[in-house]
Amino acid sequence: MSGLRSNRAWFLELEAEYSVSHLQFLERSSNRELERILRAKKNTTAGNKGKIRCLACGHILTNEQERQSVDGAHIHTFSNPHGIVYIIACYGDVPGCTYIGSETEHWTWFEGYVWQIALCAGCRIHIGWAFRQSDDRFHGLVRNRLCFDH
Ligand SMILES: [Zn+2]
Repeated sequence: MSGLRSNRAWFLELEAEYSVSHLQFLERSSNRELERILRAKKNTTAGNKGKIRCLACGHILTNEQERQSVDGAHIHTFSNPHGIVYIIACYGDVPGCTYIGSETEHWTWFEGYVWQIALCAGCRIHIGWAFRQSDDRFHGLVRNRLCFDH
């Protein structure tokens, strides 16, 4: 989170809901403070019920309607070839993520599926993986990197 571009993004999001005088107040606030205010506001807005966000930056990734069971479970625990254990939760569409690298079937956790690394589109932290078998596609998101609006 740095520079004018991210500040501008926060203002655009806030513009619709805050008065001009409030915006003038926010203009004097630091980036960090803006972030805190926006996150606090979102967390208390009833309309955001069910939203699933990146814990690091608050960016909306997906929502509870996209929750899926894969091989009979929503939550899975896997380890990668380096022995790092991940607890992942499965969701269909995750519009708030972006992808990096090529699809591969190497060490796949779901038989027959290729995978690709998924990043948070807000802060580009590693948030999980997209899994695909022809047209069947879902995401496994790292459980402790998510934040849930209730
Ligand atoms: Zn993020």
